[in-house]
Amino acid sequence: MTAEKRVRSEPKPGEPVPDLLPDRPTLKSVADVAADCKACDLYKRGTQTVFGEGPKRATLMLVGEQPGDAEDLAGHPFVGPAGKLLDRALEQAGINREAVYVTNVVKHFKWEPRGKRRIHAKPNAGEISACRPWLETEIALIRPRALVCLGATAAQALLGKSFKVSKQRGEFVPSSLAPLVMATVHPSSILRAPDDESRRAEMDRFVADLKKIAKELPREPGRSERRQTSKIARE
Ligand code: SF4
Repeated sequence: MTAEKRVRSEPKPGEPVPDLLPDRPTLKSVADVAADCKACDLYKRGTQTVFGEGPKRATLMLVGEQPGDAEDLAGHPFVGPAGKLLDRALEQAGINREAVYVTNVVKHFKWEPRGKRRIHAKPNAGEISACRPWLETEIALIRPRALVCLGATAAQALLGKSFKVSKQRGEFVPSSLAPLVMATVHPSSILRAPDDESRRAEMDRFVADLKKIAKELPREPGRSERRQTSKIARE
Protein backbone atom coordinates (compact mmCIF):
# COMPACT_ATOMS: atom_id res chain seq x y z
CA MET A 1 0.00 0.00 0.00
CA THR A 2 1.58 3.29 -1.09
CA ALA A 3 -1.02 5.86 -0.08
CA GLU A 4 -0.65 6.98 3.51
CA LYS A 5 -3.78 6.55 5.56
CA ARG A 6 -4.96 9.70 7.33
CA VAL A 7 -5.12 8.88 11.01
CA ARG A 8 -7.54 10.95 13.06
CA SER A 9 -6.80 11.31 16.73
CA GLU A 10 -9.37 9.96 19.20
CA PRO A 11 -12.08 12.48 20.07
CA LYS A 12 -11.56 14.15 23.42
CA PRO A 13 -14.25 14.09 26.11
CA GLY A 14 -16.71 16.90 25.37
CA GLU A 15 -15.51 17.42 21.79
CA PRO A 16 -18.72 18.33 19.95
CA VAL A 17 -20.07 16.12 17.20
CA PRO A 18 -19.82 18.76 14.41
CA ASP A 19 -16.03 18.82 15.02
CA LEU A 20 -15.85 15.07 14.46
CA LEU A 21 -17.79 14.90 11.20
CA PRO A 22 -15.70 13.88 8.20
CA ASP A 23 -15.34 16.38 5.34
CA ARG A 24 -17.12 14.09 2.91
CA PRO A 25 -19.39 12.02 5.11
CA THR A 26 -20.71 8.63 4.09
CA LEU A 27 -22.82 6.40 6.31
CA LYS A 28 -19.80 4.21 6.95
CA SER A 29 -17.31 6.98 7.67
CA VAL A 30 -19.75 8.74 9.97
CA ALA A 31 -20.55 5.52 11.85
CA ASP A 32 -16.82 4.85 12.22
CA VAL A 33 -16.20 8.25 13.78
CA ALA A 34 -19.32 8.04 15.96
CA ALA A 35 -17.93 4.83 17.44
CA ASP A 36 -15.39 6.95 19.38
CA CYS A 37 -17.72 9.85 20.21
CA LYS A 38 -17.41 11.33 23.70
CA ALA A 39 -19.45 14.47 23.07
CA CYS A 40 -21.62 13.81 26.13
CA ASP A 41 -21.14 11.69 29.23
CA LEU A 42 -23.24 8.78 27.98
CA TYR A 43 -20.19 7.17 26.36
CA LYS A 44 -19.02 6.34 29.89
CA ARG A 45 -22.14 4.33 30.61
CA GLY A 46 -22.90 2.53 27.38
CA THR A 47 -20.91 -0.41 26.06
CA GLN A 48 -20.60 1.11 22.60
CA THR A 49 -22.11 3.61 20.19
CA VAL A 50 -25.11 2.09 18.47
CA PHE A 51 -25.34 3.86 15.12
CA GLY A 52 -28.25 3.63 12.70
CA GLU A 53 -28.44 0.81 10.19
CA GLY A 54 -30.14 0.17 6.89
CA PRO A 55 -29.71 0.79 3.19
CA LYS A 56 -28.43 4.19 2.12
CA ARG A 57 -31.31 4.48 -0.32
CA ALA A 58 -33.96 3.68 2.27
CA THR A 59 -37.23 5.46 1.58
CA LEU A 60 -38.35 5.06 5.19
CA MET A 61 -36.38 6.05 8.29
CA LEU A 62 -37.56 5.08 11.76
CA VAL A 63 -36.16 7.07 14.68
CA GLY A 64 -36.41 5.81 18.24
CA GLU A 65 -35.15 7.22 21.52
CA GLN A 66 -31.94 5.34 22.30
CA PRO A 67 -30.55 1.80 22.16
CA GLY A 68 -31.78 -0.54 24.89
CA ASP A 69 -29.93 -3.17 26.89
CA ALA A 70 -29.84 -5.76 24.07
CA GLU A 71 -28.85 -3.18 21.46
CA ASP A 72 -26.09 -1.82 23.68
CA LEU A 73 -24.56 -5.28 23.99
CA ALA A 74 -25.07 -6.24 20.33
CA GLY A 75 -24.06 -2.87 18.86
CA HIS A 76 -27.08 -2.83 16.51
CA PRO A 77 -30.33 -0.85 16.75
CA PHE A 78 -33.73 -2.50 17.31
CA VAL A 79 -32.52 -6.05 17.84
CA GLY A 80 -34.00 -6.60 21.32
CA PRO A 81 -37.60 -7.42 22.30
CA ALA A 82 -38.94 -4.04 21.07
CA GLY A 83 -37.07 -4.52 17.79
CA LYS A 84 -38.64 -7.95 17.32
CA LEU A 85 -42.07 -6.46 17.88
CA LEU A 86 -41.22 -3.72 15.38
CA ASP A 87 -40.23 -6.40 12.84
CA ARG A 88 -43.64 -8.09 13.24
CA ALA A 89 -45.49 -4.77 12.98
CA LEU A 90 -43.62 -3.79 9.80
CA GLU A 91 -44.40 -7.15 8.27
CA GLN A 92 -48.08 -6.81 9.13
CA ALA A 93 -48.07 -3.33 7.61
CA GLY A 94 -46.53 -4.68 4.40
CA ILE A 95 -43.22 -2.83 4.83
CA ASN A 96 -40.02 -4.62 3.94
CA ARG A 97 -37.90 -4.36 7.11
CA GLU A 98 -34.65 -4.76 5.21
CA ALA A 99 -35.43 -1.64 3.18
CA VAL A 100 -35.88 0.54 6.27
CA TYR A 101 -33.17 2.60 7.97
CA VAL A 102 -33.51 2.42 11.76
CA THR A 103 -31.79 4.72 14.19
CA ASN A 104 -32.17 6.65 17.45
CA VAL A 105 -31.92 10.27 18.55
CA VAL A 106 -29.29 9.23 21.12
CA LYS A 107 -26.68 6.64 20.19
CA HIS A 108 -25.58 5.42 23.63
CA PHE A 109 -27.66 3.44 26.12
CA LYS A 110 -28.50 5.46 29.21
CA TRP A 111 -29.31 3.26 32.16
CA GLU A 112 -29.48 3.07 35.93
CA PRO A 113 -28.52 0.01 37.95
CA ARG A 114 -31.30 -1.87 39.72
CA GLY A 115 -29.83 -4.90 41.38
CA LYS A 116 -28.07 -6.78 38.61
CA ARG A 117 -30.26 -5.23 35.92
CA ARG A 118 -29.63 -2.14 33.82
CA ILE A 119 -32.83 -0.12 33.69
CA HIS A 120 -33.51 2.34 30.89
CA ALA A 121 -33.13 6.00 31.88
CA LYS A 122 -34.48 8.83 29.73
CA PRO A 123 -31.82 10.92 28.01
CA ASN A 124 -31.90 14.59 29.02
CA ALA A 125 -32.12 17.63 26.75
CA GLY A 126 -28.33 18.19 26.80
CA GLU A 127 -27.60 14.61 25.74
CA ILE A 128 -30.21 14.73 22.99
CA SER A 129 -28.84 18.01 21.71
CA ALA A 130 -25.20 16.78 21.83
CA CYS A 131 -26.09 13.68 19.82
CA ARG A 132 -28.44 15.33 17.34
CA PRO A 133 -25.82 16.12 14.65
CA TRP A 134 -25.31 12.38 14.13
CA LEU A 135 -29.00 11.99 13.38
CA GLU A 136 -29.06 15.10 11.20
CA THR A 137 -26.17 13.67 9.20
CA GLU A 138 -27.97 10.35 8.78
CA ILE A 139 -31.08 12.17 7.54
CA ALA A 140 -29.01 14.33 5.16
CA LEU A 141 -27.24 11.28 3.70
CA ILE A 142 -30.31 9.11 3.30
CA ARG A 143 -32.91 11.77 2.49
CA PRO A 144 -35.79 9.41 3.21
CA ARG A 145 -39.19 9.96 1.66
CA ALA A 146 -40.81 9.21 5.00
CA LEU A 147 -39.55 9.61 8.54
CA VAL A 148 -41.39 8.16 11.52
CA CYS A 149 -40.57 9.12 15.10
CA LEU A 150 -41.12 6.23 17.49
CA GLY A 151 -42.18 7.51 20.91
CA ALA A 152 -42.35 10.84 22.67
CA THR A 153 -38.61 11.44 23.07
CA ALA A 154 -37.93 11.13 19.35
CA ALA A 155 -41.08 13.07 18.44
CA GLN A 156 -40.34 15.95 20.80
CA ALA A 157 -36.67 16.06 19.80
CA LEU A 158 -37.54 16.30 16.10
CA LEU A 159 -41.00 17.88 16.01
CA GLY A 160 -40.91 20.21 19.00
CA LYS A 161 -41.43 20.00 22.73
CA SER A 162 -45.18 20.59 22.49
CA PHE A 163 -45.72 17.54 20.24
CA LYS A 164 -48.04 15.03 21.95
CA VAL A 165 -47.76 11.49 20.61
CA SER A 166 -50.90 10.54 22.54
CA LYS A 167 -52.92 13.11 20.54
CA GLN A 168 -51.06 13.43 17.23
CA ARG A 169 -49.89 9.88 16.53
CA GLY A 170 -50.51 8.64 13.01
CA GLU A 171 -50.94 12.15 11.56
CA PHE A 172 -48.67 13.47 8.85
CA VAL A 173 -47.09 16.69 10.08
CA PRO A 174 -45.34 19.35 7.98
CA SER A 175 -41.58 19.21 8.56
CA SER A 176 -38.36 19.97 6.75
CA LEU A 177 -36.99 16.56 7.80
CA ALA A 178 -38.66 14.64 4.96
CA PRO A 179 -41.63 14.93 2.58
CA LEU A 180 -43.68 12.70 4.90
CA VAL A 181 -43.22 12.87 8.65
CA MET A 182 -45.25 11.14 11.30
CA ALA A 183 -44.90 10.04 14.91
CA THR A 184 -46.31 7.00 16.62
CA VAL A 185 -45.58 5.10 19.80
CA HIS A 186 -42.30 3.35 20.55
CA PRO A 187 -42.69 -0.43 20.23
CA SER A 188 -41.40 -0.86 23.82
CA SER A 189 -44.58 0.85 25.06
CA ILE A 190 -46.62 -1.98 23.50
CA LEU A 191 -44.53 -4.51 25.41
CA ARG A 192 -45.33 -2.63 28.61
CA ALA A 193 -49.12 -2.89 28.09
CA PRO A 194 -50.71 -4.32 31.25
CA ASP A 195 -52.42 -7.35 29.68
CA ASP A 196 -52.73 -9.35 26.45
CA GLU A 197 -55.90 -7.62 25.35
CA SER A 198 -54.48 -4.11 25.59
CA ARG A 199 -51.22 -5.30 24.05
CA ARG A 200 -53.14 -6.63 21.04
CA ALA A 201 -55.14 -3.39 20.75
CA GLU A 202 -51.96 -1.29 20.94
CA MET A 203 -50.27 -3.47 18.34
CA ASP A 204 -53.28 -3.02 16.00
CA ARG A 205 -53.05 0.78 16.36
CA PHE A 206 -49.30 0.70 15.75
CA VAL A 207 -49.72 -1.41 12.61
CA ALA A 208 -52.49 0.93 11.42
CA ASP A 209 -50.11 3.91 11.76
CA LEU A 210 -47.42 2.06 9.81
CA LYS A 211 -49.93 1.13 7.11
CA LYS A 212 -50.59 4.83 6.49
CA ILE A 213 -46.89 5.22 5.76
CA ALA A 214 -46.76 2.03 3.68
CA LYS A 215 -49.45 3.41 1.35
CA GLU A 216 -47.25 6.40 0.54
CA LEU A 217 -44.05 4.45 -0.15
CA PRO A 218 -42.98 3.05 -3.49
CA ARG A 219 -43.34 -0.73 -3.60
CA GLU A 220 -40.15 -2.36 -2.32
CA PRO A 221 -38.90 -5.38 -4.27
CA GLY A 222 -39.31 -8.81 -2.68
CA ARG A 223 -36.34 -10.77 -1.33
CA SER A 224 -35.59 -12.74 -4.54
CA GLU A 225 -36.01 -9.66 -6.77
CA ARG A 226 -33.63 -7.78 -4.47
CA ARG A 227 -31.02 -10.53 -4.63
CA GLN A 228 -31.04 -10.38 -8.43
CA THR A 229 -30.93 -6.58 -8.50
CA SER A 230 -28.10 -6.36 -5.96
CA LYS A 231 -26.05 -8.88 -7.96
CA ILE A 232 -26.28 -6.59 -10.97
CA ALA A 233 -25.82 -3.35 -9.03
CA ARG A 234 -23.01 -4.47 -6.71
CA GLU A 235 -20.16 -1.99 -6.86
S1 SF4 B 1 -24.82 9.71 23.23
FE1 SF4 B 1 -24.30 10.61 21.25
S2 SF4 B 1 -23.26 12.54 21.71
FE2 SF4 B 1 -23.27 11.29 23.60
S3 SF4 B 1 -21.31 10.20 23.50
FE3 SF4 B 1 -22.85 8.87 22.61
S4 SF4 B 1 -22.74 9.24 20.39
FE4 SF4 B 1 -21.69 10.94 21.43
